[in-house]
Parts: sequence; structure tokens; C-alpha cells
Amino acid sequence: MKFELKKYNINIPDSDLLHDIQSCAKKLKKTKITIEEYDNFGKFSSATIRKRFGNWHQALKKAGLDYKSESHTVTKEELLQNLKCVWERLGRQPTYTDIKYPLSKYSTRPYERMFGSWQKSLETFVNWVNEGSQLNDSFEANDSIEINADETKIKRRTNRNISDRLRFSILLRDGFRCQSCGESPIKNPGIELHVDHVIPWSKGGETIPENLQTKCKKCNLGKGNAFNQ
Ligand SMILES: [Zn+2]
Repeated sequence: MKFELKKYNINIPDSDLLHDIQSCAKKLKKTKITIEEYDNFGKFSSATIRKRFGNWHQALKKAGLDYKSESHTVTKEELLQNLKCVWERLGRQPTYTDIKYPLSKYSTRPYERMFGSWQKSLETFVNWVNEGSQLNDSFEANDSIEINADETKIKRRTNRNISDRLRFSILLRDGFRCQSCGESPIKNPGIELHVDHVIPWSKGGETIPENLQTKCKKCNLGKGNAFNQ
């Protein structure tokens, strides 16, 4: 990691600060950049820039960037989705210090702003996953789908699609480990985990936790529609 003394930006000329905002915008291919993005990609501290130019909008204006358009406010859903991605990539609960670029799209700041604290963000996340993972269970009889498989009519309770949050809850249950070979992002960063039906949906398997399992990409691709042994 690059060593930087962000505190001592005091003698940097205005033009250097503005130039760096412009190069960040260029790097991100944007006409406007947020404080968050600048802190991830910029050379200096956004606090220094805000102090120097009065506020962030003024700095954008001086740098010749778009300062009028509504700034994009990160939504609750985006923050929770991002936390899910970070958790999956690590294969474990992220710590406060994990929440930074490039692993995380956002820093801890928007989490604290939205949920009050990092701890509360994690609590909200757990509730969100739990609520979402039960959505598949709430299929009523009239939502059931009938298909013809091997000329037999199969009536089913669940949709083929594994919802995002149900998928995550299966990864959690299985400890982010392939149930065939034991591979996990903890042991082998970058390993891709899939959640798949044990009895294939096309063979009448339901999309319920009991019929879902975690597999690494390699083990999953070898499987196709064959019954799992
Ligand atoms: Zn495997």
C-alpha cells in the first residue's frame, strides 16, 4: 500500500487539488465524482479540498466538473447488497477494516450514516438476509408451477430461481465451503461458490434449504442434472 500523509496537504496548490479531482473523474469516466469516490481514488483528502474551496460542490465547479446534478445517494439496498458481496468474497463476516475499496464499493462512512454504526449495519444485514431467505417459502398453492418432466406432471411449491438472499443463507449455513471438495474463499481467495439444487429442479426438486447446497464452480459444473451422490 502507498504511504501517504493525508494530514499535511496544507501546502498543496489549488491547481494540484483541482487537477487531481479531474484525473479521478477521468479515471472513473464520470462528469461528477462524489466525496466517497474521491476518497477511494484521490491522492489527497476530500476534507482538505472541502476546506480549501468551501465545500465539495464549489471544488467540483472550480474543477470544471458537473456540480449541478443531484448527487447520487447510496440506498439502503445498495449498501446491503454490497455487504453481501464483500461477505461472499471473503467467505466470512467482514470486519470494519475490510470495508474499503476495492473489496467494498463503499467505505464504512455511508454504513454508519445509514444505520448508525457498523454493528447496527451488520444487525440490519442479518435481518435483511433472514427476511429475504424466507421469501421462497411463502409461495402459495396458486403460485405453484406445473411442468412436464418425463411425461409426468410435477406440481411444485417453489420457483426454480434461488433468490439472492436465500442463496446467501445457504452459503452461510454451509460455512462458505464446497460441500463436495471443501474449497472455500478463506483457503483459496477467488474461488467461486455456487448454490445449486441437490435434486435438480427439472427432476422435481424444490427450491428449499433442504434441497440446496454450496458447490465450488468446478464441482458444480461437472454435475449438470445428475442426482447428487
Ligand atoms: Zn468443490
